[in-house]
Amino acid sequence: MTRSFTNRVFRFAPSSNGYLHLGHAYSALLNSAMARAVGGRLLLRIEDIDVERCRFEFEQAIYEDLGWLGFSWETPVRRQSEHFLDYANALAKLSARGLIYPCFCSRRDIMDAVAGRSGWPRDPDGSPLYPGLCKHLSKEEQQRRLSAGEPAALRIDMEAAIAKAGRHLDWREMGPGSQARDVTADPALWGDAILSRKDIYASYHIAVVVDDAVQGVTDVVRGEDLFMATGLHRLLQALLDLPAPAYRHHALLRDASGRKLSKSSRAKPIRALREEGFSPAAVRDRLSPDLIFADAP
Ligand code: GLU
Repeated sequence: MTRSFTNRVFRFAPSSNGYLHLGHAYSALLNSAMARAVGGRLLLRIEDIDVERCRFEFEQAIYEDLGWLGFSWETPVRRQSEHFLDYANALAKLSARGLIYPCFCSRRDIMDAVAGRSGWPRDPDGSPLYPGLCKHLSKEEQQRRLSAGEPAALRIDMEAAIAKAGRHLDWREMGPGSQARDVTADPALWGDAILSRKDIYASYHIAVVVDDAVQGVTDVVRGEDLFMATGLHRLLQALLDLPAPAYRHHALLRDASGRKLSKSSRAKPIRALREEGFSPAAVRDRLSPDLIFADAP
């Protein structure tokens, strides 16, 4: 392990639900460059709570592809699935403060409830805000349905949570070089977001804030598609008394038609480039003008 000469801790946190593409390589290499520039540590965290979609085969491919690219990380590798208890503890704290409630709705129930209500607000990812169907169920009704084994998600009571946090929340957004600015967090944009899914006993939002705190992460470097989610993460950190890392949301790589590279848009995996005969240096070179232009540390 390389010795670090600061206490800065970075992490690259891919989900093991598909093969890595150039966008991931970019994020990994930017994390690596930034950690190296300040002599910080670099963790690799496999985000694998979605047991339906995450596969061991993809996790193995992550190690192989990152190794091939020349990315090195501290061992042991961190894994979300090892922290279900921590997520449950965090949810229990929020529950004890009356800030979460069980929600039995299906996606269909929500769509039906907002159908025809033109201009119904949507969250930054484009989903309709939760219309509150289960928000005012009596304690007895909640208990009766839970005891009957009805699957329930847990949602944050956003209004109560913001009132409880009771203060202005912001975060430090780092830019290229030594640029930095404070961004006001606006968690209300997410409405009563899900913190524990029916099928998984956590959601990305709760897992990421708990993991970053447990692992002592000081610098979160990730794609700008997660910029708005940071407002919700800051609220959770405040409610759970967790430290706030500094953030850097980097530009996303796009294809020739301007669409962001993603697993769902079937971006070409790094392993396909490898099979086509590209060398790791060629892939890194392909990325480095962007690294230098948009995101150099
Ligand atoms: N696991 C997420 C992804 O692969 C990244 C989450 C994060 O960096 O906070 O897109």
